[in-house]
Amino acid sequence: MATLQQAFAGLPTPCFLVDEALLMQNLELLRSVKMHSGCRILLAQKAFSMYPLYARIAEYLDGTTASGLFEARLAAEHMPGRENHVFSPAYREQEFAELLAYADHFVFNSFQQWRQFGARALAAGKQCGMRINPQCSTQQGHAIYDPCAPGSRLGVTRDHFPERLPAGISGLHFHTLCEQDADALEMTLAAVEARFGDFLPHLQWINFGGGHHITRPGYDVERLLRCVRHMEERYGLTVYLEPGEAVALNAGFLISSVVDVVENELSIAILDASAACHMPDVLEMPYRPPLLDAGEPGEKAYQYRLAGPTCLAGDVIGDYSFDRPLQPGDRLVFGDMAIYSMVKTNTFNGMPLPAIALRRQGGTVDLLHRFGYADFKSRLA
Ligand SMILES: *Cc1c(COP(=O)(O)O)cnc(C)c1O
Repeated sequence: MATLQQAFAGLPTPCFLVDEALLMQNLELLRSVKMHSGCRILLAQKAFSMYPLYARIAEYLDGTTASGLFEARLAAEHMPGRENHVFSPAYREQEFAELLAYADHFVFNSFQQWRQFGARALAAGKQCGMRINPQCSTQQGHAIYDPCAPGSRLGVTRDHFPERLPAGISGLHFHTLCEQDADALEMTLAAVEARFGDFLPHLQWINFGGGHHITRPGYDVERLLRCVRHMEERYGLTVYLEPGEAVALNAGFLISSVVDVVENELSIAILDASAACHMPDVLEMPYRPPLLDAGEPGEKAYQYRLAGPTCLAGDVIGDYSFDRPLQPGDRLVFGDMAIYSMVKTNTFNGMPLPAIALRRQGGTVDLLHRFGYADFKSRLA
């Protein structure tokens, strides 16, 4: 029965540790959203694919959504019997027959793709929907996370829709938000109704995508409930939400060790965890990940830049301050490392992948997976 602190001290590094109890807190809130609004909620696996927890997640949510064949298969294997939705910007012919064995809802990104695959999906008893682009940007500065940015390939704009929806299309899907509150959803729904409202009474379901930061403290849950109920009551639709982040927000950690400390105008601690390989969103997004027991630069007595062990000069995690000087062997624990972390790691520079551990609700810690040389080599030839 390890406390979290004991788990941090007892595991090899680098290591991802997901805390089941923290995950459950998020799932309880998501289930209450379902119960109070009648919507269905799917886990977006691209953010969090920790399949040993899929049985637990299935106790709270309705199923999963996938970005393609492999995620759909993972859900079919580890969350059998639950809803299995898939959206791909472009399905490939050679994958489609197998995908039909796993998924039950297919969302298409063009009418060309609908014509190519729709009849086969319908014949297999699947639900088919179109991804729409409501052309309503609600986020500033993050063009790579804005599917409504000019020139976006994600979703069909209204001017590329036919007058009437082809028979067999039973739903619409949009995904336009990223870490946003329900006011952005409300704006987006207004755009969806303005541009696509004439189709809505003829459909069975609408999928609001992901990007709803529902489990972040302060999120306006009441406004979300109003948005869901509006679409249910006005158009008789079943509403789906497919959050990734919100499912496992703040439910995991990356435990790393200090390997060396070097000096060049400032003190730089080189860790066994790399931003480039183990937390690529730190560089891509970019953002400075939370670090337990550390402060902003200047807040505490000892200042360090934390950096990774690769050759990339920019493999820098960020600047932090500490109560004590750092030494080789010290453990540093990054927070909010369950989402968009394990699913995005790579072995650039021959970096070892972090181990993956789970702290069960009762406090037992299981080291689920350790990676080694074979994992590096198996991705090369
Ligand atoms: C990324 C994505 C999601 C999940 O987004 P989060 O920001 O993790 O909630 C859901 N649906 C689609 C289509 C996506 O591309």
